[in-house]
Amino acid sequence: MNTQNKPVRVRYAPSPTGFFHVGGARTALYDYLLAKQTGGQFIIRIEDTDQKRFNPEAVDNLFSGLRYLGLDWDEGPDVGGDYAPYRQTDRLEYYQKYAKILMEKGHAYRCFCSSERLAEVNKKRQKAKLPSGYDRHCRDISADESLKRAEAGEPFTIRLKVPREGTIILPDALRGDITFKNRILQDAVLMKSNGIPTYHLAVVVDDYLMKITHVIRGEEWISSYPLHGHIYNFLGLDMPIFVHLPVILNPNGKGKISKREKTGKDGKIMPVFVHTFEKLGYLPEAMINFMALLGWSYDDKTEIISRDELIERFSLDRVNTSGATWNYKKLNHFNGVYIRSLTVEDLTDRIMPYLKKAGVSADRETMLRITPMIQERITVLSEAISMVDFFFIDELPDYDVNLLAPKKKTLADVPDILKSARDTLAKIEFSHDEIETNLRNAVKESGLKAGQLFQPIRVATCGKKVAPPLFGTLEVLGKECVLHRIDKAIKLLGDK
Ligand code: GLU
Repeated sequence: MNTQNKPVRVRYAPSPTGFFHVGGARTALYDYLLAKQTGGQFIIRIEDTDQKRFNPEAVDNLFSGLRYLGLDWDEGPDVGGDYAPYRQTDRLEYYQKYAKILMEKGHAYRCFCSSERLAEVNKKRQKAKLPSGYDRHCRDISADESLKRAEAGEPFTIRLKVPREGTIILPDALRGDITFKNRILQDAVLMKSNGIPTYHLAVVVDDYLMKITHVIRGEEWISSYPLHGHIYNFLGLDMPIFVHLPVILNPNGKGKISKREKTGKDGKIMPVFVHTFEKLGYLPEAMINFMALLGWSYDDKTEIISRDELIERFSLDRVNTSGATWNYKKLNHFNGVYIRSLTVEDLTDRIMPYLKKAGVSADRETMLRITPMIQERITVLSEAISMVDFFFIDELPDYDVNLLAPKKKTLADVPDILKSARDTLAKIEFSHDEIETNLRNAVKESGLKAGQLFQPIRVATCGKKVAPPLFGTLEVLGKECVLHRIDKAIKLLGDK
């Protein structure tokens, strides 16, 4: 299928009920890639007709997530566009118009059933082991009676009059034609009694009015597709191309990826919300690259692909239909690759906000000297915090003195080790190479193993065992600070 040439109009149309999830982000990414590739438009439409589940925070969360990923949009509620408004609750008149047309054509009807009656029907269906649904009680009410009851003020919903027999065959760009039996479809509610449409009506009307050329959405919407197909047919509207993306699977390859964030066996959070990936410090480059490969591949072997290359190479032909596993290890690998590909300046500028948020008052100049030491060691940007915080404080906070004791030595051995290290360091010029040469000589002379000398120095000066490489760290800390911290450690041990 060749979709690449003509400019597409694609929309990402979330219902703002919760935080922006990676499942939605992958859909938005595919929209974005096709729009960029073809010089088309990527549209954000807020599908907020389900007022009960509406969560006002969700919209801001969506926008900030899209911005973090760099998925900029051409039309949307905040930026406007030729087809505004882009929030469904601001478009009610359109849905009313199309609901009316469907009624007039005999493809929709008023349903006067109370919610109590509907609950009763469902109870009975449940007992009979049938899926919940509606018994079409009002389907055959005559047009006259229906109108009279409505005019008398009886509340009603509007339902789609789905054919009871036969099939509807609908194309899917990835799957070919899909045949649905009408028998299993519900006379879905299109318009609620308060005049607000349901998703089914609103999505069709808006995709049509907004001239959407490709509806790209998750596989879970296939079951709604026949209802949408019927609405298009009843209204006599041309359908966009439908693309139902493969489901994203949990890391173990089983089941759809979780809707909520869980803590893994190692006590680490398993993020699924875009904002958590941002908070942890995944680079948008890595997220984009990783998510692009969830259901699409370039050639079955290329893994690292830049955004620009993706825009050039993405094609619906290579989107597959089998589930794609969300693999955190692979994402971490990607993030590491992208972190290492950044210049020191760029990486520093990306780390700085994380330090600031964590309350580390780092200055850029110093960080430019530290960044090369941690560039190889961090997987996500937030890991930098604990690797550099000790550079930017006068006094180390209390740390576990037991960490000072290296392998095969006891705490009692440490003061002597630290004292000799102090003597060595006090005498020399404080550059990386001088520090290295002198400390390595000290190792030889003392008969200690390198680690037995370096660990106490590292813990005394950094307050922790995991820190950037020692010689560079000491150089950046500076002689005065290093000697002061070593003295303090010796004193700490003496006080014990
Ligand atoms: N509002 C639907 C959602 O929450 C959109 C489904 C579609 O793209 O048609 O995902």
